[in-house]
Amino acid sequence: MSAMTSALMPANLLKVWESGAPSSSAMRGLLLLGLACPQATADELMQTRIGHRDAQLLSLRETLFGPHLACLLDCPTCGQPIELDFAVDDVRTQHAAPDDVCEIEADGGTLRFRLPCSADLLALEGQGNVAHAERWLLSRCWLPAPGDNATATPTPMAVAPPDWREDQVQAAVEAMALRDPQAEVLLDVVCPACRAPSSHLFDIVGHLWRELDHWARGMLRQVHAIAARYGWSEAHILAMGQARRRAYLDLIGYAG
Ligand SMILES: [Zn+2]
Repeated sequence: MSAMTSALMPANLLKVWESGAPSSSAMRGLLLLGLACPQATADELMQTRIGHRDAQLLSLRETLFGPHLACLLDCPTCGQPIELDFAVDDVRTQHAAPDDVCEIEADGGTLRFRLPCSADLLALEGQGNVAHAERWLLSRCWLPAPGDNATATPTPMAVAPPDWREDQVQAAVEAMALRDPQAEVLLDVVCPACRAPSSHLFDIVGHLWRELDHWARGMLRQVHAIAARYGWSEAHILAMGQARRRAYLDLIGYAG
């Protein structure tokens, strides 16, 4: 059995669901990435850039629940719900390479920074309420002047993000989004009720987690129904193939 197949066995999916249930979005994203990349080390998962993480999560979603996505948004103008159906492929785009560096020109120098990863998002959460989350993240991702040697002349590159002007912070955030577009997928929709256009961030972590939660609760109901009738252990029932589990559910008249 390949590493991928065993990672996606019901018992393992339930383990991930259970550990992520009380966790933040960043931690859930990391747990899901572990399912998508069972061979990766903990450190590799932590360092995976967010666009790359989300590309992996789209593939995981396709493997677990198929290629069609459905989600419900609220129209910001009239408040009516908007139903959206699209394919996983519709929200696939480019993501940054692991060692990609962003640069923006500023006052005759260059400000350099890498792209954020799960380690950064978790560290950000660890800070509690950060007043300027973007500036804080940039401080972590900031790469001081390259070629750190005695001949390097001091330039504005030596200015750390806490001292960047607001327009520099905004330019940096835009440069990040351009370099790693998979990390920030926008759904452009037109409300069928009021015709107002709007843009919505597509959050693959939140979306996939809700689906995993729905699946897990359904699976536990099945385990409960079989265990209550036959007295078999959870591990035993989870290890059955889906067809055999379904057959027992049919025998006991379980319709769920
Ligand atoms: Zn509307």
